Amino acid sequence: MATIPPTTRTTHRRLPHRGTHDRAAVHAILDEALVCHVGFVADGQPFVIPTIHTRVEDRLYLHGAVASRMLTTLGQGVPLCVTATLVDGLVLARSAMHHSMNYRSVVVLGTAADVADFEEKRRALHAIVEHVVPGRLASVRPPSENEIRGTRVLSLPIDEASAKIRTGPPVDDEADYAIPCWAGEIPLRLTAGLPVSDPKLSPGTTVPQAVWGYRRPTRRS
Ligand SMILES: Cc1cc2nc3c(=O)[nH]c(=O)nc-3n(C[C@H](O)[C@H](O)[C@H](O)COP(=O)(O)OP(=O)(O)OC[C@H]3O[C@@H](n4cnc5c(N)ncnc54)[C@H](O)[C@@H]3O)c2cc1C
Repeated sequence: MATIPPTTRTTHRRLPHRGTHDRAAVHAILDEALVCHVGFVADGQPFVIPTIHTRVEDRLYLHGAVASRMLTTLGQGVPLCVTATLVDGLVLARSAMHHSMNYRSVVVLGTAADVADFEEKRRALHAIVEHVVPGRLASVRPPSENEIRGTRVLSLPIDEASAKIRTGPPVDDEADYAIPCWAGEIPLRLTAGLPVSDPKLSPGTTVPQAVWGYRRPTRRS
Protein backbone atom coordinates (compact mmCIF):
# COMPACT_ATOMS: atom_id res chain seq x y z
CA MET A 1 0.00 0.00 0.00
CA ALA A 2 1.32 3.44 -0.93
CA THR A 3 -0.29 5.01 2.13
CA ILE A 4 0.05 4.06 5.78
CA PRO A 5 -3.59 4.09 6.85
CA PRO A 6 -4.15 7.06 9.20
CA THR A 7 -5.63 6.31 12.61
CA THR A 8 -7.28 8.70 15.05
CA ARG A 9 -3.87 8.94 16.73
CA THR A 10 -1.94 9.76 13.58
CA THR A 11 -4.35 12.24 12.04
CA HIS A 12 -2.73 15.66 11.79
CA ARG A 13 -4.79 18.34 13.45
CA ARG A 14 -2.88 21.61 13.07
CA LEU A 15 -1.90 22.64 9.51
CA PRO A 16 -2.97 19.24 8.14
CA HIS A 17 -1.92 20.25 4.60
CA ARG A 18 1.67 19.74 5.79
CA GLY A 19 0.92 16.22 6.91
CA THR A 20 1.23 13.05 4.89
CA HIS A 21 0.86 9.34 5.41
CA ASP A 22 2.64 8.53 2.19
CA ARG A 23 4.72 5.46 2.93
CA ALA A 24 7.63 6.47 0.71
CA ALA A 25 7.80 9.91 2.36
CA VAL A 26 7.82 8.36 5.85
CA HIS A 27 10.52 5.89 4.83
CA ALA A 28 12.68 8.56 3.18
CA ILE A 29 12.69 10.71 6.33
CA LEU A 30 13.51 7.76 8.58
CA ASP A 31 16.31 6.75 6.22
CA GLU A 32 17.85 10.22 6.09
CA ALA A 33 17.66 10.83 9.84
CA LEU A 34 20.79 9.71 11.67
CA VAL A 35 19.00 9.51 14.99
CA CYS A 36 15.51 9.25 16.32
CA HIS A 37 13.96 9.98 19.71
CA VAL A 38 12.06 7.24 21.49
CA GLY A 39 9.33 8.28 23.91
CA PHE A 40 7.83 5.93 26.48
CA VAL A 41 6.60 5.91 30.07
CA ALA A 42 8.39 3.86 32.73
CA ASP A 43 7.10 3.84 36.32
CA GLY A 44 4.86 6.79 35.52
CA GLN A 45 7.74 8.93 34.25
CA PRO A 46 7.87 9.90 30.55
CA PHE A 47 11.30 9.53 28.93
CA VAL A 48 12.40 10.64 25.45
CA ILE A 49 15.68 8.97 24.61
CA PRO A 50 17.80 9.74 21.53
CA THR A 51 19.09 6.67 19.77
CA ILE A 52 20.22 5.22 16.43
CA HIS A 53 17.71 3.39 14.29
CA THR A 54 17.46 1.73 10.95
CA ARG A 55 14.60 0.83 8.67
CA VAL A 56 14.32 -2.49 6.88
CA GLU A 57 11.26 -2.58 4.65
CA ASP A 58 8.28 -1.83 6.92
CA ARG A 59 10.10 -2.25 10.23
CA LEU A 60 12.16 0.02 12.38
CA TYR A 61 15.00 -1.50 14.41
CA LEU A 62 16.53 -0.15 17.62
CA HIS A 63 19.48 -1.70 19.41
CA GLY A 64 21.56 -1.36 22.55
CA ALA A 65 22.95 -3.01 25.63
CA VAL A 66 20.96 -5.94 27.00
CA ALA A 67 20.67 -4.04 30.31
CA SER A 68 19.39 -0.83 28.70
CA ARG A 69 16.37 0.50 30.60
CA MET A 70 14.81 1.77 27.39
CA LEU A 71 15.10 -1.54 25.55
CA THR A 72 14.11 -3.66 28.56
CA THR A 73 11.01 -1.53 29.09
CA LEU A 74 10.04 -1.49 25.44
CA GLY A 75 10.69 -5.23 25.07
CA GLN A 76 7.88 -5.77 27.58
CA GLY A 77 5.40 -4.26 25.12
CA VAL A 78 5.21 -0.77 26.63
CA PRO A 79 3.69 1.62 24.02
CA LEU A 80 6.22 3.91 22.40
CA CYS A 81 6.46 6.89 20.11
CA VAL A 82 9.44 7.27 17.81
CA THR A 83 10.13 10.62 16.17
CA ALA A 84 12.73 11.58 13.59
CA THR A 85 13.31 15.21 12.59
CA LEU A 86 15.28 16.79 9.75
CA VAL A 87 15.69 20.56 9.98
CA ASP A 88 16.01 21.92 6.42
CA GLY A 89 16.04 25.62 7.06
CA LEU A 90 15.33 28.57 9.28
CA VAL A 91 12.35 30.55 8.10
CA LEU A 92 12.73 34.25 8.91
CA ALA A 93 9.52 36.22 8.76
CA ARG A 94 8.86 39.95 8.96
CA SER A 95 7.15 39.49 12.29
CA ALA A 96 8.69 37.78 15.30
CA MET A 97 5.77 35.43 15.75
CA HIS A 98 5.80 34.06 12.18
CA HIS A 99 9.37 32.78 12.29
CA SER A 100 9.41 29.07 11.62
CA MET A 101 11.52 26.20 10.35
CA ASN A 102 11.43 24.13 7.24
CA TYR A 103 11.51 20.51 8.24
CA ARG A 104 10.58 16.95 7.55
CA SER A 105 9.53 14.85 10.51
CA VAL A 106 8.03 11.47 11.25
CA VAL A 107 6.08 10.07 14.17
CA VAL A 108 5.72 6.30 14.55
CA LEU A 109 3.45 4.82 17.22
CA GLY A 110 3.20 1.23 18.36
CA THR A 111 4.80 -1.43 20.46
CA ALA A 112 8.15 -3.02 19.76
CA ALA A 113 9.15 -6.63 20.23
CA ASP A 114 12.45 -8.21 21.15
CA VAL A 115 14.09 -9.80 18.12
CA ALA A 116 14.85 -13.34 19.21
CA ASP A 117 15.74 -14.78 15.82
CA PHE A 118 19.54 -14.74 15.52
CA GLU A 119 19.65 -14.13 11.77
CA GLU A 120 17.12 -11.28 11.93
CA LYS A 121 19.22 -9.75 14.72
CA ARG A 122 22.36 -10.03 12.62
CA ARG A 123 20.64 -8.45 9.61
CA ALA A 124 19.31 -5.61 11.77
CA LEU A 125 22.75 -4.88 13.26
CA HIS A 126 24.31 -4.90 9.81
CA ALA A 127 21.56 -2.56 8.61
CA ILE A 128 22.24 -0.14 11.48
CA VAL A 129 25.91 0.14 10.43
CA GLU A 130 24.91 0.63 6.79
CA HIS A 131 22.26 3.19 7.76
CA VAL A 132 24.94 5.41 9.30
CA VAL A 133 27.76 4.81 6.80
CA PRO A 134 26.60 3.05 3.61
CA GLY A 135 29.28 0.63 2.38
CA ARG A 136 31.03 0.44 5.76
CA LEU A 137 30.22 -3.18 6.48
CA ALA A 138 32.35 -4.39 3.58
CA SER A 139 35.59 -3.21 5.20
CA VAL A 140 35.10 -3.92 8.92
CA ARG A 141 35.05 -7.00 11.14
CA PRO A 142 31.39 -8.03 11.26
CA PRO A 143 29.67 -8.56 14.63
CA SER A 144 30.69 -11.83 16.30
CA GLU A 145 28.14 -14.34 17.56
CA ASN A 146 28.84 -13.21 21.13
CA GLU A 147 28.43 -9.55 20.23
CA ILE A 148 25.11 -10.30 18.56
CA ARG A 149 23.90 -12.34 21.54
CA GLY A 150 25.05 -9.57 23.89
CA THR A 151 23.04 -6.91 22.09
CA ARG A 152 19.32 -6.36 22.40
CA VAL A 153 17.49 -5.57 19.18
CA LEU A 154 13.90 -4.40 19.03
CA SER A 155 11.65 -4.39 16.02
CA LEU A 156 8.78 -1.95 15.53
CA PRO A 157 6.33 -2.25 12.61
CA ILE A 158 5.86 1.05 10.77
CA ASP A 159 2.13 0.61 10.42
CA GLU A 160 0.85 3.56 12.47
CA ALA A 161 2.89 6.54 11.34
CA SER A 162 2.72 10.02 9.92
CA ALA A 163 5.04 12.58 8.39
CA LYS A 164 4.90 16.35 8.39
CA ILE A 165 6.77 18.54 5.95
CA ARG A 166 7.19 22.32 5.82
CA THR A 167 8.82 23.95 2.81
CA GLY A 168 8.91 27.42 1.36
CA PRO A 169 9.09 31.04 2.48
CA PRO A 170 7.63 32.60 5.61
CA VAL A 171 3.93 33.22 5.83
CA ASP A 172 3.44 36.75 7.14
CA ASP A 173 0.31 38.69 7.91
CA GLU A 174 -0.76 40.53 4.74
CA ALA A 175 -0.13 43.97 6.31
CA ASP A 176 3.43 43.01 7.29
CA TYR A 177 4.63 42.38 3.71
CA ALA A 178 5.19 46.15 3.39
CA ILE A 179 7.71 46.17 6.27
CA PRO A 180 11.24 46.69 4.84
CA CYS A 181 12.70 43.85 6.86
CA TRP A 182 14.61 41.00 5.23
CA ALA A 183 12.60 37.81 5.19
CA GLY A 184 13.28 34.43 3.66
CA GLU A 185 15.00 31.17 4.49
CA ILE A 186 18.44 30.23 5.74
CA PRO A 187 18.82 26.69 4.40
CA LEU A 188 20.56 24.25 6.73
CA ARG A 189 22.14 20.93 5.93
CA LEU A 190 24.20 18.33 7.74
CA THR A 191 27.58 18.05 6.05
CA ALA A 192 30.50 15.73 6.73
CA GLY A 193 33.88 17.23 7.48
CA LEU A 194 37.20 15.77 6.38
CA PRO A 195 37.82 12.32 7.92
CA VAL A 196 40.31 12.32 10.82
CA SER A 197 42.34 9.11 10.94
CA ASP A 198 42.64 7.21 14.22
CA PRO A 199 46.23 7.70 15.50
CA LYS A 200 46.35 3.92 16.04
CA LEU A 201 45.66 3.17 12.35
CA SER A 202 47.79 0.28 11.04
CA PRO A 203 50.57 1.69 8.84
CA GLY A 204 49.63 1.82 5.17
CA THR A 205 45.88 1.72 5.79
CA THR A 206 44.10 3.71 3.11
CA VAL A 207 40.88 5.65 3.54
CA PRO A 208 38.08 3.66 1.93
CA GLN A 209 35.65 5.20 -0.53
CA ALA A 210 32.76 4.87 1.96
CA VAL A 211 34.73 7.27 4.21
CA TRP A 212 36.34 9.81 1.87
CA GLY A 213 33.25 9.95 -0.27
CA TYR A 214 30.91 10.23 2.72
CA ARG A 215 27.98 12.55 2.15
CA ARG A 216 24.77 12.92 4.09
CA PRO A 217 21.86 12.45 1.73
CA THR A 218 19.73 15.54 1.57
CA ARG A 219 16.56 16.62 -0.10
CA ARG A 220 18.44 19.63 -1.42
CA SER A 221 21.36 17.75 -3.03
C1 LIG B 1 11.56 21.24 13.71
C2 LIG B 1 10.12 21.42 14.12
C3 LIG B 1 9.76 22.52 14.87
C4 LIG B 1 8.43 22.71 15.27
N1 LIG B 1 8.13 23.75 16.08
C5 LIG B 1 6.87 23.89 16.57
C6 LIG B 1 6.55 24.89 17.54
O1 LIG B 1 7.40 25.67 17.94
N2 LIG B 1 5.28 24.95 17.99
C7 LIG B 1 4.33 24.07 17.58
O2 LIG B 1 3.18 24.15 18.06
N3 LIG B 1 4.59 23.12 16.66
C8 LIG B 1 5.85 23.00 16.17
N4 LIG B 1 6.14 22.02 15.26
C9 LIG B 1 5.03 21.21 14.75
C10 LIG B 1 4.67 20.09 15.73
O3 LIG B 1 5.52 19.00 15.48
C11 LIG B 1 3.23 19.63 15.58
O4 LIG B 1 2.98 19.28 14.25
C12 LIG B 1 2.29 20.73 16.04
O5 LIG B 1 2.54 20.98 17.41
C13 LIG B 1 0.81 20.51 15.88
O6 LIG B 1 0.41 19.24 15.54
P1 LIG B 1 -1.02 18.66 15.82
O7 LIG B 1 -1.85 19.58 16.65
O8 LIG B 1 -1.53 18.16 14.52
O9 LIG B 1 -0.53 17.55 16.74
P2 LIG B 1 -1.18 16.44 17.59
O10 LIG B 1 -2.66 16.54 17.72
O11 LIG B 1 -0.33 16.43 18.80
O12 LIG B 1 -0.80 15.22 16.67
C14 LIG B 1 -1.71 14.40 15.98
C15 LIG B 1 -0.92 13.44 15.16
O13 LIG B 1 -0.39 14.16 14.04
C16 LIG B 1 0.87 13.62 13.70
N5 LIG B 1 1.89 14.68 13.81
C17 LIG B 1 1.83 15.84 14.48
N6 LIG B 1 2.95 16.55 14.35
C18 LIG B 1 3.76 15.80 13.56
C19 LIG B 1 5.05 16.01 13.06
N7 LIG B 1 5.76 17.13 13.32
N8 LIG B 1 5.59 15.04 12.28
C20 LIG B 1 4.92 13.92 12.00
N9 LIG B 1 3.68 13.68 12.44
C21 LIG B 1 3.10 14.61 13.21
C22 LIG B 1 1.18 12.53 14.68
O14 LIG B 1 0.78 11.27 14.16
C23 LIG B 1 0.30 12.88 15.86
O15 LIG B 1 0.03 11.76 16.66
C24 LIG B 1 7.45 21.79 14.87
C25 LIG B 1 7.81 20.69 14.09
C26 LIG B 1 9.12 20.49 13.75
C27 LIG B 1 9.48 19.27 12.96
